[in-house]
Amino acid sequence: MPDYDIITVGGGLGGAAIAKAMAERGAQVLVVEREAKFKDRVRGEWLAPWGVAEARELGVYETLISDGGYHAAGWDTRLAGNSIGIRDLAATTTPAVHPMTFFHPRAQQALLEAAEKAGAKVRNGARVVGVQPGATPSVTLESNGRSESLTARMIVGADGRGSMVRKWGGFESKEDPDQQWLAGILIENTAAPMDYSVAVFNPFASRIALMFPQGDGRARFYFGARSSEPGMSGDREVPRFIQESVKTGMPAEYFEGASPAGALATFSGADSWVDHPYLDGVVLIGDAAAQSDQTWGQGMALTLRDARILRDALAADDDWNAAGHAYAESHDRQFLDLHTAESWSTAIFMEPGPEADARRAKALPQLAMDQTRVPDIFFSGPGSAPVDEAARRRFFGEE
Ligand SMILES: Cc1cc2nc3c(=O)[nH]c(=O)nc-3n(C[C@H](O)[C@H](O)[C@H](O)COP(=O)(O)OP(=O)(O)OC[C@H]3O[C@@H](n4cnc5c(N)ncnc54)[C@H](O)[C@@H]3O)c2cc1C
Repeated sequence: MPDYDIITVGGGLGGAAIAKAMAERGAQVLVVEREAKFKDRVRGEWLAPWGVAEARELGVYETLISDGGYHAAGWDTRLAGNSIGIRDLAATTTPAVHPMTFFHPRAQQALLEAAEKAGAKVRNGARVVGVQPGATPSVTLESNGRSESLTARMIVGADGRGSMVRKWGGFESKEDPDQQWLAGILIENTAAPMDYSVAVFNPFASRIALMFPQGDGRARFYFGARSSEPGMSGDREVPRFIQESVKTGMPAEYFEGASPAGALATFSGADSWVDHPYLDGVVLIGDAAAQSDQTWGQGMALTLRDARILRDALAADDDWNAAGHAYAESHDRQFLDLHTAESWSTAIFMEPGPEADARRAKALPQLAMDQTRVPDIFFSGPGSAPVDEAARRRFFGEE
């Protein structure tokens, strides 16, 4: 008999969500999380409407909303500083719910506690140093200077960006070229609106600036540019972050009298993924399976969808090897659509050069007049509408 049904490597949103969902179904679950206490790593804090719907399906919505979650209903798209209208996302998306924002470390802690309450065992401050795939897969972990090996029916790699479980499990990683980056910082006492998010695109300068309100004058701000420009990290770069955000079109008054409430850090936007994230008793979810360009804000929604689809696959089939393959096939379809839509958005909003300028000169006036030309996948999720040649032509203004 294995020691557990499931061992998750990592107790971030993905690891904690699947642990809670499976513990509630009577599985013996162990979560191994290397951090003793979560801190601000500058991670996702805007959960798209389709992610909120997944949170409801998974039974983690109440935990997120009651522990600091915030509904900022609207979405204001600004092209070179001019608003093309504030969209009510609950009224205009397939999931018909508002997006949610939260302080990521707090949400991680709340979900992990919820998993523990549901019966999962949580080992904080323990680091997995190896995974052995096979009919009865195992992990080797280290904590308090001791090393031990534990077996499970299934190992879930939920260890995020730079996943080591990918490597230990024998998966082949794929990666897009490094084209753009996103820098983020939490700001308090901002005069920014608290009832809608702001996305400012300055495509002819290949820049983007984003603001996601969290209530009480707190908001997560991001600024993104091409990888040919230097990124920005640390306190000394905060003035440059603000300057560039304002130059891109984020209103200067949002920063007046405001102050940083966390670190400034920059991350590459290159997608990195594996095809078919199940192999020999080891399954990958969340960023470990597919890290998508955070410029488009889809990572947490995809992570929760992964956890939900894996839960449903494991519930539907006693043969967990078959369930792992079923999950992996579904994951590939979801990610392919997101990856395609992201590459279209990068081509219109971020790519530099005369060809890209000609492309957006055709597309942008039509997008400004008719927002339904933008593939709604980023709000309504993969599967909500086809991401095909007809959708591409509409987005690129070719018809
Ligand atoms: C700058 C930035 C902005 C983003 N903005 C958004 C956004 O607005 N909306 C959105 O939806 N997504 C966004 N994302 C993406 C989002 O943060 C991720 O998709 C999401 O956090 C992935 O969750 P996860 O559980 O897979 O991984 P993580 O949150 O990274 O969790 C992995 C966990 O595994 C633990 N771990 C790792 N290795 C080990 C080990 N060997 N042993 C034990 N524990 C281990 C880590 O400590 C960590 O707690 C953003 C990402 C970045 C970087």
